[in-house]
Amino acid sequence: MNAINTVFILISILFLYPENEYYSIADFQNVEKTDSHFHIYSDKSYAVEAAIKDNFKLLSINTFSDGCERVFTTNRNCNILKEKYPEDFEFTAAFCLDGWDDKGWVENTIGWIDKSIRDGAVAVKVWKNIGMEFKDEDGSLIMIDDPQFDPVFKHLAEKRIPLVGHLGEPKNCWLPLKEMTTKNDSSYFAENPQYHMFLHPDMPSYEEQMAARDRMLDKNPNLIFIGCHLASLEWDVDVLATFLDRYPNSAVDMAARMGQLFYQTRENREKIRSFFIKYQDRILYGTDIIDREQADAESIYKRMHNTWLTDWEYLVTDNRITSNLIDGEFKGLKLPKEVVNKIYSQNAKKWYKGFE
Ligand SMILES: [Zn+2]
Repeated sequence: MNAINTVFILISILFLYPENEYYSIADFQNVEKTDSHFHIYSDKSYAVEAAIKDNFKLLSINTFSDGCERVFTTNRNCNILKEKYPEDFEFTAAFCLDGWDDKGWVENTIGWIDKSIRDGAVAVKVWKNIGMEFKDEDGSLIMIDDPQFDPVFKHLAEKRIPLVGHLGEPKNCWLPLKEMTTKNDSSYFAENPQYHMFLHPDMPSYEEQMAARDRMLDKNPNLIFIGCHLASLEWDVDVLATFLDRYPNSAVDMAARMGQLFYQTRENREKIRSFFIKYQDRILYGTDIIDREQADAESIYKRMHNTWLTDWEYLVTDNRITSNLIDGEFKGLKLPKEVVNKIYSQNAKKWYKGFE
């Protein structure tokens, strides 16, 4: 091919096919993607095998949400999966609050975290039970800015180990069920009244949860922080933007908050689209899909594939979309390829430690 032909082809690509700037539904299989917020509570490989079929890598987030024993079992399962699928699977560490009032808690916790990182964990997860459930021996609720966490988070900051935080809950959690903006929130809190804070006015408010998280981050300016679920600021991208501006070492995942994004897109699509473009280096795609022991290969694949494809359509096309998460119709964001590549893959590698 001579130079004139090459130039002609380049000009054609630039001017005749502007659509090349965007992906289509058909590109779903071709593009490398990561689900940065997944849970595997099983020693089976079904979810990883299913992910490989759709060109996804999985980041399985270990969470102290069901006793210390499960943290250890999950860690063991994750080590096995990482060995089997070094290219397609990553996992986080989690630590327990058992023994919080004992003298050795800090030292033991740091030791456990370091061991997990040596085994291949890419971050450490903290969950909403800090701030919403766990109490010390005096009966005081343990908040995320409790001074006992200081040496642990200082250690993470020094070692550049990211902290992944699901802290607080969506703002809906403090509202009565019928005032909630998304159907997934109203059904979750109907099923889990213990976490529906509207029913527990004695517990810290939404604002107090966010303030405790911010005080912790203020104490640890070098800590890399990845806020799960849009950092519980899912209800307004302007508020989320203020958070990201204030904490430059932070990023967020979108897990289980697509309904909130759909809701805001229905109200003001351009605003949401501009937010994604402006903060394209700080947002990670994730779903919060849980693979439990009892799931079979077929049903887990179906669930993953359907969720991933719907979200892909929303992020890459401008199709008119409906979802069972909210009422009404909204238009997809049709984000440029460059932004899609970051959200779906590059940002996970950039923000998580040793993510391959
Ligand atoms: Zn989760």
